[in-house]
Amino acid sequence: MQDTPETTPTGVGFLTRKVGSEEIQTPEQFTEEQQMFASTVRDFMNKEVYPRIDDLEEKDFDQMIEVLDKAAELGLVRIGIPEEYGGLGVDKTTTMLVMEEISKYAGFSATYGAQTGIGMEPIIYFGTEEQKQKWLPKLGSAETIGAYALTEPGSGSDALAAKTKAEPVDGGEAYEITGTKMWITNAGFADLFTVFCQVEGDKFTAFLVEADRDGVSLGPEEHKMGQHGSSTRQVNFDQVKVPKENILGEIGKGHKIAFNILNIGRFKLGVGSLGGAKRVLELSVKYAKDREQFDQPISDFGAIRSKFADMATELYALESSCYRVAGYMDQTLSKIEGTAADDPKKILEAIEEFAVEDSIIKVYGSEVANDVADHGVQIHGGYGYSSEYEVERAYRDSRISRIYEGTNEINRMLIPGLILKRTMKGEIKLFELIEDVEAALGESSRPTPPGQDDDPELSFEQYLCTRGKMMVVYTANQAIQKHMANLREQQEILLNLADLLIELYVMDSTINRTLQAIRDEGFDETRIHRAATRLKATRAFNAIRDLSETLLSHLAADDADKLNSHFEALDQLSFRPRVDQIGLERIIAEAVVDAEKYPF
Ligand SMILES: Cc1cc2nc3c(=O)[nH]c(=O)nc-3n(C[C@H](O)[C@H](O)[C@H](O)COP(=O)(O)OP(=O)(O)OC[C@H]3O[C@@H](n4cnc5c(N)ncnc54)[C@H](O)[C@@H]3O)c2cc1C
Repeated sequence: MQDTPETTPTGVGFLTRKVGSEEIQTPEQFTEEQQMFASTVRDFMNKEVYPRIDDLEEKDFDQMIEVLDKAAELGLVRIGIPEEYGGLGVDKTTTMLVMEEISKYAGFSATYGAQTGIGMEPIIYFGTEEQKQKWLPKLGSAETIGAYALTEPGSGSDALAAKTKAEPVDGGEAYEITGTKMWITNAGFADLFTVFCQVEGDKFTAFLVEADRDGVSLGPEEHKMGQHGSSTRQVNFDQVKVPKENILGEIGKGHKIAFNILNIGRFKLGVGSLGGAKRVLELSVKYAKDREQFDQPISDFGAIRSKFADMATELYALESSCYRVAGYMDQTLSKIEGTAADDPKKILEAIEEFAVEDSIIKVYGSEVANDVADHGVQIHGGYGYSSEYEVERAYRDSRISRIYEGTNEINRMLIPGLILKRTMKGEIKLFELIEDVEAALGESSRPTPPGQDDDPELSFEQYLCTRGKMMVVYTANQAIQKHMANLREQQEILLNLADLLIELYVMDSTINRTLQAIRDEGFDETRIHRAATRLKATRAFNAIRDLSETLLSHLAADDADKLNSHFEALDQLSFRPRVDQIGLERIIAEAVVDAEKYPF
């Protein structure tokens, strides 16, 4: 494993670098300007959004547009647009911080996210100069509302199987679009759709279609489980004629737009999950301090406190994971020099470099948000089941995140799939990693793990991470050896491999963050960070051990000798002292109760 930090971050570095060997971006290092943006959004949410939630949930879209206009007045809708088209062109970290705050009310974040993400990014990254000049300033001021129409009744995950067709007419000067798109966010008040169609049968292509063109019509609002504040409708296109100037990107290259925009969306969805879940933790702890049973606040009960500890620990790990990737992107983008910095292709390449991390954040973030919302309802007891309480809505709202921007199953399969592809291309030196594991297994005696005493180097956690990585590499190698190119067909194996990689990335990010926090803020000031890190590292390590056991049991099911040797290897790699997890939970829960919110 490499132990010298590289100056340019590369995707999947968490697998190849020694834990603790690189500087990553952490929330403790946000600049004053970044914090100021976050604080502006907090004020905006308090003043403009929270007081209107009841109306917004009743689909008062006039108010929704008013709120979006107010966000635009503050510059929040144009933050991701390059400056030459009227935008602020801020860094990815700031964009993430804004998204985190806005996601504290999902109805607005869906609307805002569709406008600033899938609504305008296809034009930012793939538009012609004329298309950018024409649309970006208006999208940035919210004068034009954008929407993204990819999904159809018959094609969701298999997006490229869309049937909507675009036929050339007038000698190729125009195209006629016919088909139906499904689940389109912002459809009820959108002015401009990015519509994915098949040209001449099978050339998947994106078009910009103005909502007021003849032949565009909408289905009724969908009756959704959550996100009631956002508009979601079918959009029908009946021989809608658009000039050829409305083609976005190239004919037959629509998949590039669809997949790249999804990549960015995943990264934002992870941080959105973080924002929504932090709010649930805050609501839950405040409720629990107020609610008395058996003559004491329920926040005194260990059963409630262990939920606080769980929520805060997973959120700390998620936060560490999200802002690490945002930092990578900003670092990479800042190295693109001169005019190339304005080259959308270069920017997309930089974003694509971290596609594995984006999928990890999407899956982990959406599942943490679901678990936190579930704990939140449980802490509220029967009141959590009542629509009088915000936590009931948060529970329903959070569920969709596991489904859109690529379902969690599709994203899980992408994670090992992309790593395999990079390994085949020689970008990841998996074989060097395997040699490290073999060397460790060849040692005549077990290593002596570091003790669990207080230690500013987090030697114990680093040991867990290093051995965890070895288990991941050992198990992945067995899966590759057994199935080779057919591994792509073994979905159950891929899902477990994805979980191994998710646990590893999250553990590595959490330890790296806390090591830096200790260096920057001091050992005594980081007691809660250290407790959360030890708890997360322990849980991730145990999960890696269990997942490896599941996979190896299957991979060698027909060979008893092999199975035995796998378990001997696993026992050797997973040897470590046990951790007092309940003791750690108590430290973290105390901090949550004292802070009455996410305590970091
Ligand atoms: C509230 C909401 C807002 C949305 N907004 C938009 C929008 O603005 N624009 C837009 O274009 N779309 C939007 N969508 C659509 C969304 O992206 C799709 O619902 C999503 O991609 C899943 O597609 P599907 O619903 O057809 O499910 P399916 O693809 O039918 O999946 C059903 C199940 O099968 C699994 N599955 C599918 N394929 C495979 C496979 N190859 N291997 C293993 N398992 C598989 C899935 O993981 C899932 O569990 C929205 C959806 C909702 C509910």
